Amino acid sequence: MRVLKFLCLSIAFISLNAMAQDQNQEEARKPGHTNQNKFKQLYDEFATPNMFRTGSGAPGPAYYQQQADYKIDLEINDETAVLSGNETITYTNNSPDELTYLWIQLDQNVRSKDSPSNDINSSNVTPALSASRFASSYMSESFDGGFNIESVTSTGGKALTHMINQTMMRVELPTAMKTGDKYSFNIKWWYQINNHVTDGGRSGYELFPDGNRNYVIAQFYPRMAVYNDVEGWQNSQFWGRDEFALPFGNFEVNITVPADHLLDGTGKLMNREDLFSSDMMKRYEKAKKSYNEPVVISTQDEAEAREKGRSKKKNTWTLYAENVRDFGFATSRKYIWDMMAVKLGDRDVMAVSLYSKEGNPLWEQWSTKAVASTLKSYSRMTFDYPYHKAISVHAKRQGMEYPMICWNYGRPDENGKYDDRTKYGMMSVIIHEVGHNFFPMIVNSDERQWTWMDEGLNTFMQYVAEQDFGEWYPKALSSGDAAYPSRRGPAKNITGYMGGNQDYIAPIMTKGLNTYQFGNNAYGKPATSLNILRETVMGRELFDYAFKEYTHRWMFKHPTPEDFFRTMEDASAFDLDWYWRGWFYSTDWVDIGLKEVKKYYVSSEPNQYAKNYAQSRNLNLDELKLVYLVEEDSDEFDERLRKGTSADNSPSLKEYMMDNFTAEERKTIKQPKYFYDITFEKPGGLVMPIIVEFTYADGTTKTETYPAQIWRLNDNEVSKAIASEKEIVSIKLDPKLETADIDTSNNSWPKEVKDSDFDKFKNKVKG
Ligand SMILES: [Zn+2]
Repeated sequence: MRVLKFLCLSIAFISLNAMAQDQNQEEARKPGHTNQNKFKQLYDEFATPNMFRTGSGAPGPAYYQQQADYKIDLEINDETAVLSGNETITYTNNSPDELTYLWIQLDQNVRSKDSPSNDINSSNVTPALSASRFASSYMSESFDGGFNIESVTSTGGKALTHMINQTMMRVELPTAMKTGDKYSFNIKWWYQINNHVTDGGRSGYELFPDGNRNYVIAQFYPRMAVYNDVEGWQNSQFWGRDEFALPFGNFEVNITVPADHLLDGTGKLMNREDLFSSDMMKRYEKAKKSYNEPVVISTQDEAEAREKGRSKKKNTWTLYAENVRDFGFATSRKYIWDMMAVKLGDRDVMAVSLYSKEGNPLWEQWSTKAVASTLKSYSRMTFDYPYHKAISVHAKRQGMEYPMICWNYGRPDENGKYDDRTKYGMMSVIIHEVGHNFFPMIVNSDERQWTWMDEGLNTFMQYVAEQDFGEWYPKALSSGDAAYPSRRGPAKNITGYMGGNQDYIAPIMTKGLNTYQFGNNAYGKPATSLNILRETVMGRELFDYAFKEYTHRWMFKHPTPEDFFRTMEDASAFDLDWYWRGWFYSTDWVDIGLKEVKKYYVSSEPNQYAKNYAQSRNLNLDELKLVYLVEEDSDEFDERLRKGTSADNSPSLKEYMMDNFTAEERKTIKQPKYFYDITFEKPGGLVMPIIVEFTYADGTTKTETYPAQIWRLNDNEVSKAIASEKEIVSIKLDPKLETADIDTSNNSWPKEVKDSDFDKFKNKVKG
């Protein structure tokens, strides 16, 4: 009985013990998780490489692209502002697929009366608005600027079955197109040109008080949609924001306008001698040899004389362009026309400007030089500009790009006066829009899906080109500006956006139509992230090589985001998955701080902490010759430790040095005396390198960069032990503000005490 009782008790004891153990384990055990490591490869997010697009980010052996060639006859009726066209499209199917229909983009239908493009935006009653705004919002019929498709026929004139869905038209092929097949067909159309100043739009006309118009005409003709290995037909509707996706082709375009108009557009002007006066021809020949200053081909006096007339005669301008993805043109009586030559490698390219007198004196001074400078900067970073000219056209409130031609804002007031904002705005938009020749006109990404691939890369390059422009043309800078004041690119300019309200931020990898803060999302953040990648993370040598490689691989082709991401890594041996994941796939921001700094000295005696440490590892303090480090703030710290060297303070170290180093070696060996335990914290989600600037007691500084991978095993907090011969008096993180750290109040040790408002007030009263 007794025995049994004992047995029972011990069983009870054992099971109680086991239960307690289980409970402890349960408490310690956290729920399981999937791999959330920020350095995990981007296998899940990336499309699988294939024969069309390889794992290296280059076009694969089966890469193909379609070709669309156009022959277009156009006429502008300047009295009615109607544009009519008759075009023949020749489509070549280079895909391995059989096509039974074609998709054609009717972008102008975004301005048709029944367009749903405005219906997708929510709206509210505004409690106070101008009478004109009231009238245009509630009283006027909406402008009808959609396409009137007169006919869609075979080249033999037989009607082709077609269907229009908003901005997309499907044309049935009489016989399916097999690989390598070509098919030509004809579309006849017209539309009412919009006043882009009053009705908006990326193209249209401005009506001047003298009755003259400046036409800047684009996405004006039925254009072939892209068919490729990624999307099939890219027939996502044009809602007005997300731009375009277009195949390459050759264009033969005849444009008929009043005889007193000047005109330029995409392509080579084929009948210049018929259209230019002999004076203009002479000036043109001179311009071709002028590398420093633009030569005026059509003067302001000549433009002012032309704009007084209204010729009833017509001229037809013929342009021919090879291997372009689009076509645009500009025409008016009001044009002043100037150009200069730019040497790129062993070729000469013409930098050209068209502007009315309202743009002067700003435009005659800086437009063509900004074009020339942009071509040089971009060519250096990518490939030599392959076309023969680049034109900047002055158009009110426009900033829009097409192959070889773009529209740009920036107009002085009626007295020809302008402020810095107007001047720099005009220069920046010219650099930006001319730069679009490279992205997306040549490195032809899908703008409809990925706004950042053209706007982000181009805005990054715009920053590089603006800095060049300021350096090459210091007279373009305002007094007091040492460098070009770029708005987008510098890291510190993006912190407000990245640290802002998360309800209104989307990852960069979002279709443009569905993003908040379009400018920050698709332009500012990707541009800044590439600038940080170049200057701070990879360094210029690695970044520039890889960036150039991307542009060479994909010039005159259709790249996807993965092709860019993969190429940047492939050409640099720089693991970038973490960077793309954080900056492009998330809305995380950068915030790295100094959490704690502890200072240690070498001591002969262990403190309690060292004793515990030794004990926990079964080290015998009496037998082992250990070197002890004592924290300055601990009870065991002795002021005398500050005075001696490490060897003075530690007999064990002294003995070791005597045994292991010669007298000569002992004299020269580094003997750090100050030891620091630095803890970094990371309130921000983005992993980034830690840039640490140490300032020593003698006033000198040293900067240390720990790679981003330091965060791979602990995303919140990491530490570094620093041994120094000189005393560190202060530590600063990201001293040059190059990482886009949104909160710098935790970047300093000792904490920078900023004057409180009350202190400032007191000082002011005292002063
Ligand atoms: Zn742009």
